[in-house]
Formats: sequence, C-alpha cells, structure tokens
Amino acid sequence: MDCLFCKIANHEIPSTTVYEDDQVIAFQDIDPKAPFHVLVVPKKHISSVLEVEDMDKDLMYHIVTVIQKIAKESGIDQSGFRVVVNTGEDGGQSVQHLHFHVLGKRLLNWPPG
Ligand code: 5GP
Ligand code: ZN
Repeated sequence: MDCLFCKIANHEIPSTTVYEDDQVIAFQDIDPKAPFHVLVVPKKHISSVLEVEDMDKDLMYHIVTVIQKIAKESGIDQSGFRVVVNTGEDGGQSVQHLHFHVLGKRLLNWPPG
C-alpha cells in the first residue's frame, strides 16, 4: 500500500522515533507546529478515526497509554499538552492513516485556527 505512515511504521522511510512497540510507532513531526510535536501512529493501516472498528478498541486504549508515557517522559504531563486528530478535508487531514498529534511546550491557543 502506498501510504506514508505505513512506510514509516515498516522502517521503509526513516523517522525520528521516540517510542515503538509491535502495535504503535511514535515519531517527531517533520514540520513541527510546537516545540514538542510527536505523531502517535497505529502500525495497522486505519484511514481515519471514522474507520476505527470495535476490534480496534484495545489498540485505541493502548494508544492513549502510549500518549501518557510520552507525556510523562517529556514533562508535558506537568505543563499541559494537546492531542489532535485531524479528520477529512475541513479537519485538515493530509495523511490518510490515522495519527494522533501530541503538541506541547508552548501555550496552545483555543479555539484552533
Ligand atoms: P495531518 O495534516 O494529516 O493531520 O498530519 C500529517 C502530519 O504529518 C503533518 O503534521 C506533517 O508535518 C507530518 N508529516 C508529513 N510527512 C512526514 C514525513 O515524511 N515524516 C514525518 N516525520 N512527518 C511527516
Ligand atoms: Zn497506512
């Protein structure tokens, strides 16, 4: 499958990996929107949050635990951070493989642009 994040998950394209296990890879965004900007990506190809199925519920919980671990290790659990899942055209999704942006180490405005 010609999917950028599948290729990163398979190590066909390099990334600055901050966490990896058999289900999930997390790596630094190539174009960071905050001083801390990591993408947490399931290795399974899921196009968007709209495609998550009942069988993925353990994977979704696991992703949350990976976000917790990354947040604690980087210190943003103390300062605060934002988890973003852009979806579809209006949501600004540019890569059609589910990913969780984890942004921090600056004050994040609300509402987002
Ligand atoms: P989206 O726009 O779909 O919500 O997020 C896609 C993210 O992937 C963007 O923040 C973009 O900077 C990042 N990105 C695109 N191509 C690459 C790449 O080749 N490597 C890495 N590490 N990040 C990428
Ligand atoms: Zn994919």
